[in-house]
Amino acid sequence: MFTAYDEKRQLFCLLDQSEVPNDQMKQLVWHCPICEEAVLYRAGGKNRPHFSHYSNSSCAGSAETKEHREGKERLYAWVKTFAEEVEVEKWLPMIDRRADVWFRYRGVHYVFEMQCSPVDRMAIRERTLAYESQSIQVLWVLPAELMKRTATAIYIQEWQQEACFQTGSFPPQLMYLGQQLSIATLSAYMSPRKFIASWSSLPLTPSGFSLLIHDHLSVKNEPKAQLFYKQQSRYGKVKLQTAFSQHVQERLYRYKSPLYLHPAECGWFVPGQVWVSEPPVVWQTYVWLSLIESEQHEFHEWINDELAEVMKWLGMSERQAIRLMSQYVQLLQRLHGQKPNDTLLPTLELSFPKSADEAHRQDRQIYARLPVTFKKTL
Ligand SMILES: [Zn+2]
Repeated sequence: MFTAYDEKRQLFCLLDQSEVPNDQMKQLVWHCPICEEAVLYRAGGKNRPHFSHYSNSSCAGSAETKEHREGKERLYAWVKTFAEEVEVEKWLPMIDRRADVWFRYRGVHYVFEMQCSPVDRMAIRERTLAYESQSIQVLWVLPAELMKRTATAIYIQEWQQEACFQTGSFPPQLMYLGQQLSIATLSAYMSPRKFIASWSSLPLTPSGFSLLIHDHLSVKNEPKAQLFYKQQSRYGKVKLQTAFSQHVQERLYRYKSPLYLHPAECGWFVPGQVWVSEPPVVWQTYVWLSLIESEQHEFHEWINDELAEVMKWLGMSERQAIRLMSQYVQLLQRLHGQKPNDTLLPTLELSFPKSADEAHRQDRQIYARLPVTFKKTL
């Protein structure tokens, strides 16, 4: 930690003080702002001076790694160059959380959360919701060491997907902190762990942050990668392991179709796919069937009927589910020549390809009509 209470219960931040002699600091008594326990001032060696708990502490602030501390320090130094107000390790008693780097920029409150170790994906979601309840936008940042990539793809774990979505960027992006900020923009689904991504990097300069929040408004779709994914799913490469995929297959049996002969309109990437751990072929076939079977003609009526089921099967919040469903319905609208944002649901025809080869031909026709970009307002 970089902050502690001094003997007068004043909050002392090491990152804001440059010249305090170590001997003097070590003689003072310091207390943790979270648990109020006494903490040690540590300085010397390669580490930047910091406060740390005694080894038997159970405080949430006691398990901090060097990596996490260094990430916070770099983010704090950067944010100071452009923010109207900034605080490292800001304590937010209303939500019982300590933000890594809290700041205000153009009147909006943000928090950089540096996540260095794997966590439960629900923890990422809950923390984000807690901040949002205080009108704070969270920007999740991972250390560059966790970046697993090739030139065009990114490999991410579940909790990283969650961080990617929860950052609220659109299209879904994941940020990695090294000497600069590396940003992966996800543009096609390949498997629950692999996405096609494009990469950019942002220098940690005063203008960098406004570029980050303003310049990334649309995602270039990667139809080629998508077609490859569709081809694999046609020829039996998509495994049906989850209860949800079995449920979808059972529904399809009513129409005497195996899943690999799903309609060509199913299985394409929409940006919200990053929130789902089910393959697009599976969940979109589910939605497609639901649209076919629904008596409703308007999107809002249909979603009213379906929301609870979608949330249950896909394990999503209401907000996520509505966003994902509207993205997919809009894709269907475009494919049927309707205007996106039309409130009417597209009229779908109940027919299935008869063979994988026929299906693949149909997929190629759809592929030619896919939108190139997804706009922020989807
Ligand atoms: Zn503590």
